[in-house]
Amino acid sequence: MGSNCIFCKIIKGEIPTDSKIFEDENCFVFLSISPVNFGHALVIPKKHFENIYEVPDELIAKLSVAIKKTAKAVKKAVNAHGINIANNNERPAGQVVPHLHFHIIPRFSKDGDINILAEHHKKYKNGEAKSVAEKIKSEWE
Ligand code: AMP
Ligand code: ZN
Repeated sequence: MGSNCIFCKIIKGEIPTDSKIFEDENCFVFLSISPVNFGHALVIPKKHFENIYEVPDELIAKLSVAIKKTAKAVKKAVNAHGINIANNNERPAGQVVPHLHFHIIPRFSKDGDINILAEHHKKYKNGEAKSVAEKIKSEWE
């Protein structure tokens, strides 16, 4: 499956992205193209697994650390009042891209009662995603 997967293509650089936040040998972190709020990031394994049922224990342990670091950096970068962490597995649960991913979603008091699963959301204007990604990078610990 990996060869036709949009997230695999982003990881390999076959689709250019100016919204990369972090990568190491196991994990890749970048901004969602249709954010619930600006700063909405995705944490994914570099190796292609479709969903959480398939990912090895050692790898999900490493992804968990990246999820925590991303949550803290996003919160600081956009001065969020809260953070949702979401993971959709299979279409009936809202999974659209079949490469395991965790959503790190900044939330604000003014958001009210929004559905974070609903499709979708905000759009970055030219250059905005890059600057948000840079700001999140600058808060990475
Ligand atoms: P899900 O509905 O859980 O499968 O979420 C898919 C996520 O991938 C959504 O946040 C989309 O905005 C995001 N997404 C889809 N295509 C891209 C892309 N080319 N670059 C960045 N994010 C993407
Ligand atoms: Zn993939």
